[in-house]
Amino acid sequence: MSTSQVEKFEFQAEIRQLLDIVIHSLYTDREIFLRELVSNAADAIEKFRHLHLTEQQVFDDRLPLEINITTDDTAKTITIQDFGVGMTRDELIQNIGTIAHSGSKAFVKALAEGARKDVNLIGQFGVGFYSAFMVAKRVKVYARSWHLEGTGHCWTSDGSGSYEIEEAEGQRRGCKIVIELKDDCHEFAGASRVKDILKRYSSFVPFPINLNGEKVNTVQALWLRSKSEIKDEEYTEFYKYQANAFDEPRLRLHFAADAPLAIHALLFVPKDNPERLGWGRIDPAVSLYCRKVLIDAKPKDLLPEWLRFLKGVIDSEDLPLNISRETLQDRSLVEKLNKIVTGRFLKFLEDEAKNRADAYNEFFKTYGLYLKEGAATDYTHRAALSKLLRMESSAFAKGEFTSFADYVSRMKDGQKEIYFLCGPNREALESSPYYEAFKLRGLEVLFLYETVDEFVMGHLREFDGKTLVAADSADVKLDDMPPPPADNALTDEQAKDLCSWLKDTLGEQVTEAKASDRLVDSPAMALAADHMSGHMRRMMKAMSEELGNEPVKVTLQINPRHPLVIGLAGLRTTKPDLASLVAGQVLDNALISAGLLDDSRPMISRLNKILEAAVK
Ligand code: ADP
Ligand code: MG
Repeated sequence: MSTSQVEKFEFQAEIRQLLDIVIHSLYTDREIFLRELVSNAADAIEKFRHLHLTEQQVFDDRLPLEINITTDDTAKTITIQDFGVGMTRDELIQNIGTIAHSGSKAFVKALAEGARKDVNLIGQFGVGFYSAFMVAKRVKVYARSWHLEGTGHCWTSDGSGSYEIEEAEGQRRGCKIVIELKDDCHEFAGASRVKDILKRYSSFVPFPINLNGEKVNTVQALWLRSKSEIKDEEYTEFYKYQANAFDEPRLRLHFAADAPLAIHALLFVPKDNPERLGWGRIDPAVSLYCRKVLIDAKPKDLLPEWLRFLKGVIDSEDLPLNISRETLQDRSLVEKLNKIVTGRFLKFLEDEAKNRADAYNEFFKTYGLYLKEGAATDYTHRAALSKLLRMESSAFAKGEFTSFADYVSRMKDGQKEIYFLCGPNREALESSPYYEAFKLRGLEVLFLYETVDEFVMGHLREFDGKTLVAADSADVKLDDMPPPPADNALTDEQAKDLCSWLKDTLGEQVTEAKASDRLVDSPAMALAADHMSGHMRRMMKAMSEELGNEPVKVTLQINPRHPLVIGLAGLRTTKPDLASLVAGQVLDNALISAGLLDDSRPMISRLNKILEAAVK
């Protein structure tokens, strides 16, 4: 049998595109290729360690779990070898070549959109291996799988469209990657340069790394050490390594507990929220360890969904060491871990909010959406989460935050409810007719601007025993107050007449028309008859066609002190046609304020007629 038969393969199109960019347009930070290859080596060893717990028979059983790097300054090569799981021929084709990871496309897109071609991100997109081509003329991957049967293979490519695979006898288990360096990359064949890079990026790799036979990292589990011994820089370096990140963490929580479970946890909140940067939903990434052994790098249900922005490590010696990723499913232990860690993290945020309010508010601006999501969906932690929410309020200037608890502390004697208004921005809410009555009475209203807010408030329903009430809902009952003084205000009788005429004129869209003492500066306001706000209606509409076609029905409240309303009462007899046009427009204006007007186009011809009358 011939062992030297060479097979040639084309790279899949998306990978070709990726390689083209990697080779021809990435010239900064090229050193990160080493971080990526070392991280792959560490992953492969980690996989082997797991597999070794369950598989009886593995190839090359006694190899040390370590990574060996050698540089050759004469041949201008650098070699990275690991004794991990290795790859079979088919795996070589699958993992590095033919089948594109979804990440290759996403990475190319991110590069194209980014202001700066940030190659640092490559690892996060699951295409780190290809970074080798930033520095390589040619890459050779010698691979031997852990399976007893089979043989080794050598994968070779210069990155320009195709690669070759041939059998290679005499390989140790794992992978050996030999990089022939490009002419302008010879620095990476120099031991001291490589040592610096390894120190910089790979100090936390949990396996020994030897450079030309000499160990360069101190294998340590930072999270098991005591807080007082750890410097900030060490934490940051660890974060960067562990989260594949290049920013500084925004918040950090390191704690140990003994009961009810022995836990060491080190958690980070990254500076930026990638979902906000438009990268789509992120996967949870807090790794689960048992006595320094990685059990699962991205366990799905270790923490609640709304904590998916956290990075870091949870280590519990109470987990059985041979717990597999699959058996993680049925596990009261993991639930306990979840409860303890989530509880601690919430307590931590509470302390942050108290002791470092400004930093906490910044955190909230970036991550508030997750806390809102939790408050709405996670009943267990709802109470704690609702304390952590921040929002603007009529009691403070734009840009300042308050909390429910602070609102409650400012509530007037006898006030039983917490009032809020949802809308696109501060200006819109402050000038909305719904706010007028509250302003007049000196009642504080919370202002909320995010699409989810209404949904969240609807789920929270109350805080500290006080009901949350939307200021634009029909349920609002405010204390009687003498209506604000006005010249020529309509009498009760006149107002009643006008209202019944309005109801007749406006047709079935208006279920009721009545005079209101809530209004100050606006002529009218619309309250949805079905208690559904404009916001909510649009959400429902997006989900169901049927609802969208049903015209909204409202109660129309008019302001008998407003000159427009006073005028309209008279116009009714002098110019009935114009009066009904004006009435229609008053209704539409109120619907716009309420966010309830679905289509504003029919309004144009009416407005033109009214304008015509105005300029006559
Ligand atoms: P990622 O590491 O995020 O999966 P990479 O592009 O770095 O993406 O690697 C692609 C795949 O190639 C890995 O998922 C793995 O299956 C395989 N691979 C890379 N390096 C090694 C190695 N040293 N040993 C075994 N498999 C490897
Ligand atoms: Mg990788």
